[in-house]
Amino acid sequence: MAQRDYYEILGVPREADQDAIKKAYRKLAMQLHPDKNPGNKEAEEKFKEAAGAYEVLSDPQKRAQYDRFGHEAFSGRGGAGFQDVDDIFAHFGDIFGDFFGGGMGGQQRQRRSRNEPRRGSDLRYVTEVTLKEVITGLEKEIEFDTDKNCDDCKGTGAEKGSQVSQCQMCGGSGQVVRSQGFFAMASTCPSCHGQGTVIKNPCKSCKGKGRVSEHRKIRLNIPAGVDTGTRLRVATEGEGGYMGGPPGDLFVEIRVKPHNHFERRGDDLFAELSVPYVQMLLGAEIEVPTVTAKATVEVPKGAHDGDNVKLSGEGLPSLRGNRRGDIYFRVNVQFPEKLHKDEEKLLREIAKARGLKVAPEGGGLFGRKK
Ligand SMILES: [Zn+2]
Ligand SMILES: [Zn+2]
Repeated sequence: MAQRDYYEILGVPREADQDAIKKAYRKLAMQLHPDKNPGNKEAEEKFKEAAGAYEVLSDPQKRAQYDRFGHEAFSGRGGAGFQDVDDIFAHFGDIFGDFFGGGMGGQQRQRRSRNEPRRGSDLRYVTEVTLKEVITGLEKEIEFDTDKNCDDCKGTGAEKGSQVSQCQMCGGSGQVVRSQGFFAMASTCPSCHGQGTVIKNPCKSCKGKGRVSEHRKIRLNIPAGVDTGTRLRVATEGEGGYMGGPPGDLFVEIRVKPHNHFERRGDDLFAELSVPYVQMLLGAEIEVPTVTAKATVEVPKGAHDGDNVKLSGEGLPSLRGNRRGDIYFRVNVQFPEKLHKDEEKLLREIAKARGLKVAPEGGGLFGRKK
């Protein structure tokens, strides 16, 4: 999914200072504010997009990361982006406060009434896959617990036939104001815990919480080519909605288990390969392991220690493309632990032919000390 450039979204130059960024965002957010555009999905999407851009560009550290790595900087780490308009108010409520007289600011929005439909939260699930599974892709069953509205009380928390009544202590506001010397301090109402309502006769199924836990079992399709940090979105499999609101989404985060032979860099794999010195000098086709099977690579005549030889198309598939990466074997020259008599004889002849002085027989050129 292509993401628009954050500077472009806010309509500011790359060198814009914090003040300019804040101003630009405020202006946009006011235009696109959901209360000004009721039912306008496009405005809502743009409102979310602007908030995502502002979240990053208003934070010097995140902005620096974005400037260096672009959207990649946050992929898989949930760094940016909002699913829910309410989250935006919870985050940047104070920005709207000045303009909407506080009435639509974060504080007000954040205190949700029990009876208001609301989307369930997104859930995050981490799962490990092997390198082999990265090549093939896989179907995997995952299980987890989440919660949803109680069917018996429809989420109100009140037993059938009974009612939810306004909290008397706070008069339904969910907050109580206490005076402390010169200061008036507002705090969450201890009687209704900020809900503004109390339940005299709680629902037996959910003990008055309005929510029940639910065990989920999902078959996941993990595509080939995933990497550590890849996030898969499973729509509507998050926490159940509140009071008829839609459920959240499930985000499955992938971790690829380290392989004891191959190291991954993008779609390519790297491994070490020991090659006997004779084959290094003369060139050879050598059998090598791949992730799933075996193959042969050609070590060219006169290869050097540390050279990479490439095995095309045996790397990892790409999430987007169709071509697989390659495997690079770093060849390490391998000398025998112990020279065979015949081999030594031949080597001495070679030394002689090349006019090279070597240690006399019995003394060890290759006689390694143990
Ligand atoms: Zn219930
Ligand atoms: Zn109360």
